[in-house]
Amino acid sequence: MSSNTERPIIILGAGIIGLTTAIRLLESSLYQDKNIPVHIIADHLPNDPLDPKYASTIAGAHHLSFADDDDERQRRWDKRTFQIMYKEWKDEGESTGLMVMKQTEMFVGHTKHLKIYEEHPDFKVINHTERPDNIDHSVSFTSLTITPITYLNRLLKRISELSGGKLIIHRYHLPSLTYLSHPSIQAMIGPHIPLAVIVCVGIGALNLGDVEDKNVFSTRGQVVKIKAPWIRSGYTRQIGTLDGGENGERTYIIPRSNGEIILGGTRELNDWFPYPRQSTIKDILKRTIEICPDLIPNHLIAPALSNPQDQLPLEDLNKTKIGHTGITKSISPESLEPLIIEHLVGFRPSRKIGTRLERGKDLILDQNDQNEKTIVIHNYGHGGAGWQSCWGTAEDAISLMNEAVVGRSYI
Ligand SMILES: Cc1cc2nc3c(=O)[nH]c(=O)nc-3n(C[C@H](O)[C@H](O)[C@H](O)COP(=O)(O)OP(=O)(O)OC[C@H]3O[C@@H](n4cnc5c(N)ncnc54)[C@H](O)[C@@H]3O)c2cc1C
Repeated sequence: MSSNTERPIIILGAGIIGLTTAIRLLESSLYQDKNIPVHIIADHLPNDPLDPKYASTIAGAHHLSFADDDDERQRRWDKRTFQIMYKEWKDEGESTGLMVMKQTEMFVGHTKHLKIYEEHPDFKVINHTERPDNIDHSVSFTSLTITPITYLNRLLKRISELSGGKLIIHRYHLPSLTYLSHPSIQAMIGPHIPLAVIVCVGIGALNLGDVEDKNVFSTRGQVVKIKAPWIRSGYTRQIGTLDGGENGERTYIIPRSNGEIILGGTRELNDWFPYPRQSTIKDILKRTIEICPDLIPNHLIAPALSNPQDQLPLEDLNKTKIGHTGITKSISPESLEPLIIEHLVGFRPSRKIGTRLERGKDLILDQNDQNEKTIVIHNYGHGGAGWQSCWGTAEDAISLMNEAVVGRSYI
């Protein structure tokens, strides 16, 4: 039997969930006192070309909780993540990839907001005289957005610093958990049977052998990325109920600290089409200028050379006032086209019964030594909320891991 301090801990997955979990592990006394080797194994890594199956790099991403009022677990994760990211932004500013901004939520078809928004700084219910006629309820508060690649790269740097460069990230598609004892894996992580594996594989949980979670499904999201650095506030319009983030029609504008804006979105259940759909692009542009006409700068709107009214009305154009000038400007979704950088599609790792954050069944990887068990901790299935709950779930995953190791006297 190998010494337990030589037995590595494996983090499977290098999305926002795998990387935040790795950081909390490297900060834990379990790692710091025992110097246990830690490895990350993943198919996709942060600077890869974009792939819909690697949700973390496609996400918006804003911190806008979907936690129902009675979902204490989700509320705790989301709140904890907000606190951590807000502090990071306060301490280090926008170089973190984080941007703090005013968020306005607009509701059509119902007049209730989630209680968790009231815990954000600067929360306020917007008076009906200040909101558009077609909006039934609206609130605003301070929240934050994330530029995923910047934030993920920062996590990679922290991982390297915390481990003194010792944590190695291996690119490998693991067919099953049992495969962790395969010689091709041992060639990377050493000959000792892993002490534990933390499964942070997102949508990969559907096909990963020994997990094959049939509750996992894809919620396809298509978004448009534009350059519009003059927009520094977030807007969302929710038509119909939210129901844990999976319901209704949701339109959003997510500004990033680098001047890019994500316009969204869609939530298409079990839809695996990996490319952008033209009809969806048009629909997103139409919906987003409805809620934020300021997306289009004045110079992109055909100027009225003599009488501004000559240009109006054109069919299916929005009309809005330019500031306080009294001049009416015409806005068509096509006006946004010159600002477009790219179109993105991603598969949110949804799970019918919510995020799986629990200890699984121990693995026996060495058939000659039934006592040398490998602890399994699951941390996947975050749906459309992986960014906004990542630090909360990472901390719970490492607590479970500590309990398992200490409780069973593995060390
Ligand atoms: C369009 C869109 C917008 C979104 N907006 C937001 C938002 O505003 N706020 C928010 O909180 N969330 C948002 N999300 C959701 C968020 O992106 C996900 O919840 C989050 O990225 C999930 O992270 P993850 O690390 O679990 O999965 P992923 O980022 O998908 O990473 C999974 C990792 O596991 C690896 N892996 C999988 N299977 C295997 C295997 N068999 N072997 C080896 N490696 C494997 C992958 O290679 C990858 O490294 C959005 C998602 C989309 C698509």
